Amino acid sequence: MTDATPASLAERVRDGEIRFHELEEHADADTAAAARRLLVAETADADVDALGEYAFDAADAHGSNIENMVGAVQVPMGVAGPVAVDGGALSGERYLPMATTEGALVASINRGCSVVNDAGGATARVTKSGMTRAPVFRVGDVAEAEALVSWVRDNEGVLRETAESTTSHGELLDVTPYVVGNNVYLRFRYDTADAMGMNMVTIATREACDAIEAETDASLVALSGNLCSDKKPAAINAVEGRGRSVSADVKISREVVEERLHTTPESIAEINTRKNLVGSAKAGGLGFNAHVANAVAAMFLATGQDEAQVVEGANAITTAETTPAGDLYLSVSLASLEVGTVGGGTTLPTQAAGLDILGVRGGGDPAGSNGDALAEAIAVGALAGELSLLAALGSRHLSSAHADLGR
Ligand code: NAP
Repeated sequence: MTDATPASLAERVRDGEIRFHELEEHADADTAAAARRLLVAETADADVDALGEYAFDAADAHGSNIENMVGAVQVPMGVAGPVAVDGGALSGERYLPMATTEGALVASINRGCSVVNDAGGATARVTKSGMTRAPVFRVGDVAEAEALVSWVRDNEGVLRETAESTTSHGELLDVTPYVVGNNVYLRFRYDTADAMGMNMVTIATREACDAIEAETDASLVALSGNLCSDKKPAAINAVEGRGRSVSADVKISREVVEERLHTTPESIAEINTRKNLVGSAKAGGLGFNAHVANAVAAMFLATGQDEAQVVEGANAITTAETTPAGDLYLSVSLASLEVGTVGGGTTLPTQAAGLDILGVRGGGDPAGSNGDALAEAIAVGALAGELSLLAALGSRHLSSAHADLGR
């Protein structure tokens, strides 16, 4: 195992002696990745040497974060802020870590942060928490469906005990049934503390499903019946929430709006109504916002979140209004922000550094407070981004900012 070289390993794969995905069984993880680069470069006729530059331990990443590893993609990381946050779990001034290749994004959110600071800072709160898994069961008919729903209602204690036997941090909050003919969907919702929780709740729900099958006539068809709903745009997440439901807001004096943003509270409120609310409604959209996905995606990448969950993370509504005193009130509410500060990609060193910038790496004290703090930081980043873009539209210099910074 130790004296294998990338070239000798690649040769053995070509000869059919060892399999591409089993290279780590014959060499250390770095050598295995180098051998794959040789094979991929040869097949694709491409130069992939740049993929060999990485700062994490390949042996740690192999298996827990990546399979068939060839190296790493680097994404530039910047920071916006520091921005003053008055949160339920995060308080004080924070730089917001953002990884992106979109020029002008960090500059735009940075401008928003600066104006938020001039306004005295942003307020942020997590208002609901719960990661969901919704298995689908087959039953004989609607009478059996009702019987299963009744059984679940009468046995929530049993389900709680069974599910929680698999985890020391997860707590089953509730189980909500949905019936469609002879299909029964049970939406299990858990407090997952500082974990995003998808693995945790999947394992716990699997155990609960075994108990349901043992005690009722229902048959489990799939552990996920898509009413969860993970990594797909879905109204249920926008309405009921998933992960953290988090809101952030700011009140900005007319003077600051006019001097710093070269627009007015009325203009920002009108653009928000006509664009983010009416325009999104007409488009049949779920995201009633300008570009919340930008802050969510950049902060997800910077802090080791599951990037596919940007789908739900962008499920956000922005509101803007002129206060009776003539100032601007702006808010953003992210209904389903699925984040964690333990597990998944959070342990990789560059992503852990991103969490450290926010001061939220690892388990919080009390458990769950770091997850809440990360959600509040992302909400404030989204708020700053909404402010900056709405103001740019208000002052009509959006295209010139992109021309200067993005290309
Ligand atoms: P995980 O890395 O599988 O597990 C995290 C574990 O950390 C928890 O189960 C918990 O163990 C432990 N832990 C230690 N301190 C904790 C604290 N303070 N708060 C909460 N937990 C603590 O991560 P996960 O969050 O469950 O799942 C995230 C991963 O799932 C990501 O890699 C994501 O890409 C992937 N994912 C999976 C699915 C799926 O369907 N399985 C779907 C989407 C994404 P105990 O449970 O023993 O307490």
